[in-house]
Formats: sequence, structure tokens, C-alpha cells
Amino acid sequence: MRDFEYIRAGSVKQAVGICAEAKTKAIAGGTNLIDLMKLQVETPARLIDLNAIEDRRIEETDAGLRIGALTSNTAVAIDKRIRADYPVLAKAILAGATQQLRNKASVGGNLGQRTRCPYFTNIDQPCNKREPGSGCGALKGVARIHAILGASRHCIATYPGDMAVAMAALDAQVEIAGHSGKNRMIAVRDFHRCPGDRPELDNILQPGELVVAVHLPAPVGGTQLYRKVRERSSYAFALCSVAAIVDVKRGKIARADLAFGSIAAKPWFDERLSQLLFGERASMALFEKAADVLIEEARGVGDNDYKIPLVRRTLIATLCEATEVSA
Ligand code: SF4
Repeated sequence: MRDFEYIRAGSVKQAVGICAEAKTKAIAGGTNLIDLMKLQVETPARLIDLNAIEDRRIEETDAGLRIGALTSNTAVAIDKRIRADYPVLAKAILAGATQQLRNKASVGGNLGQRTRCPYFTNIDQPCNKREPGSGCGALKGVARIHAILGASRHCIATYPGDMAVAMAALDAQVEIAGHSGKNRMIAVRDFHRCPGDRPELDNILQPGELVVAVHLPAPVGGTQLYRKVRERSSYAFALCSVAAIVDVKRGKIARADLAFGSIAAKPWFDERLSQLLFGERASMALFEKAADVLIEEARGVGDNDYKIPLVRRTLIATLCEATEVSA
């Protein structure tokens, strides 16, 4: 690990100012950043520690709940209000990492976690995300965990997390502090970005901006599921996942919000699925149609081709479970 300056932030304003400086990284739980620093993937000149200033509260608001960015993943997953009204979020968090990591990992850090592409984490390999212009090792290499939607010829990495997938299904909002002194809000669905020709940018945060909270909407009801497909049953990233909020009223689907993990550089939300399912009677034929829409533009690079039928099957199974249709 290389030498770096360590600063304990005394206020959000100070942290925002320091974060705007080049080669500066904010640290909360450190569960991803410290690993990347040890590997020399991240080589910040200074770390600004947010632990003394950022919010760890889960508060009720007029709309729903506000979760401070430093709230641990465990605290969110065990909160009685979240377990009762937003079970998809609790289930997604508990499907991720280990108890020890969830105790330390923060909500803000979880949103900002970086890809687990093995070429990104190996500084001897080319990687446009780590070193723009150096090439993409995965494109002609081992790409089993890589994206099938929203990728580009510059990068096919996935966002690996679970929590944000559930937040995308819930249409949660991210509260961001910046220089203006006035916090801005952006939907979780729009927070992460597809690589395009700037794969080094994982999300829409500008230099000097910090995530300070996530806002959940009013309770949405319905059946809430999180189905994660992985190579072993614990402590593994998803090959694909589905967060589903499905409500059936008088025999017809009154709500179907679906988000997908580990198939793109962002939690994948396709409005067309909600529209297709809305107002229809649940049936296998309908779910197959929705799954076909989801994978319409999916592309693999060989190693990850299996993800296309996998996410198709996973979506159909999740919808069957949510609506009690026999698979
Ligand atoms: Fe780097 Fe993205 Fe290619 Fe992985 S897929 S090697 S993160 S550019």
C-alpha cells in the first residue's frame, strides 16, 4: 500500500471541499476501498474519513424513510420498519456479503462499490475502467461474470451489489451534497451509469459530491422478493438477481416493479416490463413475453452467454412465485 494523507472530516461542508481535490477518496466502512488500495487499484493521495460526520439514522419523513449514508447494511436490514414495509430491501442486503462485512459496510459505500471484474483488480492487466485507454482485458479474456446489457466496446463490467438492485425496484432516491450547499436528489435508477466511452465513471457523482442519504418512498405493499442466483449459497456475488415488487388486485397485476443485478454496469430497470405486466392476468405466457422483452437487446461475449437464458428463467420463476402461478 502506498502512503496517503488521512483526514477526519469535521463537517459535510469540509468533506465536500476536500473531496473536490484530485486524488482524494472518501472513506466510510472501507470494505471495498481498502481492498482496492492494498491491490494498488486505488492509489489516493488522501483519504477523507466521513465516520465522524455522516448520518447513521433511519428517520421517518413525510414520504417514507430517510436512511443516512453511514447507516450500516446490518442496521438497515434489521430495522423493523424496513422489514415490514420494504422487505425486498432487507432480503437483498441479507443476500450480500457476510455478517461481519454487513456490520461495517455503509449504505453510501454500498452504492459506490466498484466492479469485481478480475482485470480491474489486477494492475498487470489492461482495463479501461482503471486506466482509461489501456484496453479491456475481459473482452477477449475470461468474462463469465460480465454484462449482457448496456455494455460498450470499452467495458463490459457489472455493478456487483444487491442493495441498490432492491432500491432501484423501490424507486428510492439518492440525496447528494455538493458545493452549492443545497442537496440534490437523483433516482437510484439513474445514479449508476453504463460505460459508453467513459468506463472510468461508475456513477453520476461529480468531484466534490457526497452521498448523504437514501430516501425510500411511501410503503408500496405487494409481494416483495429478491432472488439471487450465484455459484454458492453464501458470500458470493450474483450471476444475476431479480428484485421484484408485484401486486395483484382482483386477479390482475396492479404493480410490477422489477430490477436486475449483475447483468449490467448498473441495477437494470426496464420500464417496459412494468407496462407490459400492468393490468394483465398472471400467466406463464405473459411472464415469458416479459422475459423476452428483457433480453431483447442482451448480448454476451461467449463466456457470459449463459446469463441470457439464466436471467430469463430467473425472472419467470420470480414472477411465478410472486403471483402463485405454477412454473
Ligand atoms: Fe476493465 Fe471494464 Fe474491461 Fe473489466 S470489463 S477489464 S472493468 S474495462
